[in-house]
This record gives sequence, C-alpha cells and structure tokens, in this order.
Amino acid sequence: MSVSRIPRFYKLSVEERHVELRGRLDLDDDDLRILESGWHGSLSIDAANNMVENVISTHALPLGLGLNFRVNDRDYIVPMCVEEPSVIAAASNAAKSVRDGGGFTADADPPIMIAQVQIVGVPDTNVACVEILARRAELMAACDAAIPSLVRRGGGARGIEVRTLVASSEHEPGMLVVHLLVDCQDAMGANMVNTVAESVARRLAELAGGEPGLRILSNLADRRLVRVRCLVPLHALETKNFSGERVRDGVVAASRFAELDPYRAATHNKGIMNGVDAVVLATGNDWRGVEAGAHAYAARDGRYRPLAIWRVGPGGMLQGDLEMPMVVGTVGGTTRAHPGARLVMKLLGHPGAAELGMLIASVGLASNLSALRALACEGIQRGHMSLHARSVAMNAGASGALVEQVARELSELGDVRLERAVAIMARYTA
Ligand code: NDP
Repeated sequence: MSVSRIPRFYKLSVEERHVELRGRLDLDDDDLRILESGWHGSLSIDAANNMVENVISTHALPLGLGLNFRVNDRDYIVPMCVEEPSVIAAASNAAKSVRDGGGFTADADPPIMIAQVQIVGVPDTNVACVEILARRAELMAACDAAIPSLVRRGGGARGIEVRTLVASSEHEPGMLVVHLLVDCQDAMGANMVNTVAESVARRLAELAGGEPGLRILSNLADRRLVRVRCLVPLHALETKNFSGERVRDGVVAASRFAELDPYRAATHNKGIMNGVDAVVLATGNDWRGVEAGAHAYAARDGRYRPLAIWRVGPGGMLQGDLEMPMVVGTVGGTTRAHPGARLVMKLLGHPGAAELGMLIASVGLASNLSALRALACEGIQRGHMSLHARSVAMNAGASGALVEQVARELSELGDVRLERAVAIMARYTA
C-alpha cells in the first residue's frame, strides 16, 4: 500500500481521516489525542510560556496533509501548516502529476552553516587576511573546542574564509568578515554556530590587529543548498480544455517571465514558499530563517530571480528544477519541544535534516507547478475561488454543514464576496 496516496482523503470527515492515518502509520493513543485536540491543543500554555516571553495564550493554524509525494523513490504524507486555502490541495495535485513521471529527485549539500565574525579597525587588511589564514589549523581547532558534542556526532568546523569589506586606507580603517564554516549535522545550527563565532572572535581580531564586531550566523546559507528536479509527462498535464503540450509550453513561458522580470519572480517565489513554509512551520522549524535565505539566494547575483525554472525536458516532458538554501533541523530549536512538531516528525518517518530539506523543497516545487499550471490555463482564480468561498462563508458566520452549502452557492453564482455570503446566510438563519 502506498503511504502517500490516500484516495478520496479530502472527502472524509476529520475523524475518518484520523482512523485512516492510524491504519496506515504507527500512531498510538497519545498521537491520536494530539490530532483530536488540535494542533493548538497540543501545545500547553505552560510549554508556550517556556518557549517565548509575555505569553497570554497559544495561536492555532490548520494542519493538513499533502498527499501523493514521492521523493527519491520514497513515499511521504506531508503535514502542512497553513492558513491559505488551496495551498495543500494544489501541492497534492501537482505531486500526483509529478508522481506519474517517477516522482521528485533531490540532493542536498552537507549541512554547512556560515558564522560571520566582523572585525573592525583593521590597520592593514591584506596583512590581516594572511595572518588569519596562516593560523587556519589553530582556529579550526578552537572552533571545534567550542562544540565538542557536535564534533563527537561527526560535525564541526569545515573551513575558514576571509573577506575584505573595506580595504584599509588613509581615509578609513579596514573592515573584514571571517566566515567560519560549520557542519551542524541534523540541527538547524544557528545557536551552535553563534557559539563558535563568539569563541574565536577575540583571537581573530587579535590576529587582524582590529576589534571584534558582530558574531552571528548568516542566513544566506549558500553552502547548505538543496536541489530538486521533476519530470511531468504530458498526459499528466492535460486538462479538459488544454492539451498537455499547451500546458507545458504555458508553464515554460511563465518560467521565462519570472526569469526576466523581478516583479513576476517575487510572486513565482511566493508560490514556492507557500509549500515550503507550510512544512517548515509544521515541523517547528524557523520559517523566518528559511524565508530570509530563500530571498537572499534569489537575489545573489544582484538581480532577484526565480528559485525554480521550467523547461521542455527529455521526451517532451515538462522539467522543473529548484535550488535554494534549506536551513532546517530535525533536532534542537522547537522541533522536539513542541508536541505537535514531534508528531509531525513521526508522520514523516523521522527524517534527518537533509532528507527533510529535500522533501520541503519538493513541496515548494509542487506548489510552484500547481500555480503555474493554473495560470497558464484557465487562470488562478477559478480553482482558488471555490476554496476561498469557504473562508468567505465562515467570515459571514457559517459553521458546520452550512460552510459547504454557502460556499457552493457563492461559487455557482461566481460572486465570492462577503456581502453575498451574508445575504445567503440570512436565508438559512431567518
Ligand atoms: P539548538 O541550540 O537547540 O542546538 C541543537 C541541539 O541539538 C544541541 O543541543 C545538540 O546537542 C542537539 N542534537 C542532538 N542530536 C543532534 C544531531 N544529530 N545533530 C546536531 N545536533 C544534535 O538549536 P540550533 O543551534 O539548531 O539553533 C536553532 C534555533 O536558533 C532556532 O530556534 C532558531 O529560531 C534560532 N536562531 C535563529 C537565528 C537566525 O536564523 N538568524 C539566530 C539565532 C537563533 P549538543 O549540544 O549535545 O550538541
């Protein structure tokens, strides 16, 4: 039985979905209780109060399952935490088409994070660079000494690079930044590399003849990239009104648009981040860090570009390629502290950080495909609006079975506005 394909899952009630999951995965009563009490209920006020400051309550978002995902020949059901209608359905739908082409293939760089140490007031930046690089072995050993347990796990310092930001001159003292490259294994690594940066900053400044400045990781994690590819057969792109070739060429043209225009690239990448963020959030990872890395990487050569591009691939199939930094962990941070995030890791089969990163990027590529396919055909609004209608119905006060009823009427009228939903509701509540 394929784990990631659950036919007609969307037709089931929430309770029936729990039963379905229990049958497919090794869920126990505690897991079921977390699902039944809601993601919100899984985090006690006490736990929340220990996580952040000035807590007054907890905040809930929907948690759904992205289906049909197959990455590197392995099936996944993908928990996605997101408030926007259609994100989960769209990703699941695109994953199904990709599955027809063999699924996603992905690879990940080693989990190398960059810690930056700024050094100011450097009298001669050329001499400082030479002095620092000459002590590479001593400095790497000092980095490792700051993170002994990570070294025992197989991680630790992997390199030192020096960049001159301001060359010393008679007008201005020099400014250097030293990059400490650290293998963080399965952790996101921010705290770890910050510790490393703190531990060697004074020695670096001494070697440079300057003063230590900032000591913190860079979120432009370009040593920790993931790459995902998919091939979609034409029959999987075909719709009632459009041939597979027509859809493929439309997606390629949409990709070219994003490659040529940063205004379009921003929206193209937002579509990717719809899927990426939903999984990052569900797993308790730091989505601001992933977002910062994604957009900085998209603009790395001075022009903002799409993170994924689409072309005609082998055999005329549609080929998608995505590359982005992926700074996520499966240990540390909130990933183990939040009971809901722990359950999500279980649903995912307890992946390591690299595997999780490749899966997240695959969900991003699926989200992108789905948006471009819709845009290249009948436009995004048709599919979007029927799901959006449910939110509008709820905003108008509908609950239970009335949500579907009011949403259906709004969609049939082709008028998904609050005012119209209120008028429909008035009929049912009069
Ligand atoms: P932690 O500080 O929680 O460190 C990771 C922990 O995981 C360590 O305690 C480590 O144990 C443990 N661990 C267990 N197994 C492994 C393994 N296989 N591989 C690696 N570590 C393991 O988290 P991070 O350093 O990952 O930092 C992430 C947090 O930092 C997030 O909450 C993030 O929001 C925050 N942050 C982000 C910033 C940014 O993005 N700019 C800035 C500052 C913080 P041991 O100690 O024994 O090695």
